[in-house]
Amino acid sequence: MKDRKPHAGGDVGELGDISPELFREQLHRLADWIADYRETIGQRRISPNDEPGAIVARLDAAAPERAASLDQIFAEVERVIVPGVAHWAHPQFMSYFGCTTTSPGILAEMILGALNVNAMTWRTSPAATELETLVLDWLRQWLGLPNEFEGVVYDTASISTMHALAAAREQAASNTRKFGLSGRDLPTFRIYTSNQAHSSVEKGAIAIGIGEDNVQRVPIDAEFQLDVSALREMIASDLRKNFKPLAVVATVGTTSTASVDPIAEIARVCRGHKMWLHIDGAYGAGLALLPECKWVTAGWSEADSIVINAHKMLFVPLDFSALYMREIGRLRRLFTLVPEYLHLRDPVGAEINYMDYGVQLGRRFRALKAWVVWRAFGREGLAARIRDHLRLAKLLADWVRDDERFELSAPVVMGIVCFRFKAGDDDEKLDMINSKIVEDINASGRAYVTQTKLHGRTVMRIGLGNVLTTERHLRNVWNLIQSTVGEVAAHL
Ligand code: PLP
Repeated sequence: MKDRKPHAGGDVGELGDISPELFREQLHRLADWIADYRETIGQRRISPNDEPGAIVARLDAAAPERAASLDQIFAEVERVIVPGVAHWAHPQFMSYFGCTTTSPGILAEMILGALNVNAMTWRTSPAATELETLVLDWLRQWLGLPNEFEGVVYDTASISTMHALAAAREQAASNTRKFGLSGRDLPTFRIYTSNQAHSSVEKGAIAIGIGEDNVQRVPIDAEFQLDVSALREMIASDLRKNFKPLAVVATVGTTSTASVDPIAEIARVCRGHKMWLHIDGAYGAGLALLPECKWVTAGWSEADSIVINAHKMLFVPLDFSALYMREIGRLRRLFTLVPEYLHLRDPVGAEINYMDYGVQLGRRFRALKAWVVWRAFGREGLAARIRDHLRLAKLLADWVRDDERFELSAPVVMGIVCFRFKAGDDDEKLDMINSKIVEDINASGRAYVTQTKLHGRTVMRIGLGNVLTTERHLRNVWNLIQSTVGEVAAHL
């Protein structure tokens, strides 16, 4: 037997892992640390005020030649790393879409770490594959998607959308998988999406060889929804110039205001031109879990594909993005490529190998997180929490309306509220004030909000999605905004 005694300074011996006893001891300590972190997170400052590079400057830059003890390592985690992150799970962190981690999700992540399986094929982890199929089916039912939609889990919506667009491209230009796009007699493809859509549409177009300039941004109406008559005109104009309309990416829950594009109408346009319809429901599709919000699903069954990020509204920790596609064989045929060493034997074709549905080979067992979280809350529990976030958003909108120095900048459709400090005539100066309010609030460490541009003007934006956020936290943040406004306006 090799010496398994720890090195001086470290906890590992010359070979093998740390001892089971030490692992157990550290795990118990970590369990307490995580429980304390979650219980007292509201007392932390949300984000550091450090300059870039300040955090790494507190750490030893030399690559570790010799072992350090876990006690030493975790002491540095507490001293340097934890104060150096933005605490997304803090109940007054209201940036982006809020943070949707939950305690069951954290527990599931710990199991995932221990299992560390690779869900590339059914054989490499049957339970990972079968659970993925199961949770995708639950979510499909909750979204009210027809049976012919089947899904696959990726990390992010950007990757989901890229794969959907790749399938659209293959349908319009068959054999692109084999021969690529260049050197062939193919038209220039166009993708249409509103000027509120996420930049992942361009990124997808870049990745699949369509090019970002061929993503055409369609104007919006007063409610930040894609203007369908403008879409029709843009397509007609492109056809006259011999472009080939390929796809429309419609959004359910845009990044800035959570607006919802008129999907049913867009679907009619797509059908008329034999174009692919992809729905980016990364954030907003989760609303479908609420019976009273079924309006949001109008037209979905007409789509070719839809993405939803469970880590944006459905309380699964980052990352979990589900892509559904009608006749998902289109995706599988595009990406199946079996390396010899995987040696697949499945005479009856019953094994699902999710590696066949995209670029990635190795895949995390993300389905476990969704399975644990969704069972722990049930659809009713998820819906109740989403409903409360909608209530808080409406409440904040009321507070904004009640303070004459502010105005709402967009309709409140989901858990997103955009508003602007408006006391003054000079729009540029008001832009600066709104921006400075956000900066000062974030620098205070007591709240974290974002800014965005709507109709060319800077507005503040609050996202509600955290299970730890209560009305009291929202009130604290609103009080902070109101008091910061006075200070900023007086100095600018
Ligand atoms: N689509 C929308 C509407 C988004 O708001 C975002 C990000 O916030 C994305 C797509 C991209 O998401 P991901 O980070 O999962 O790629």
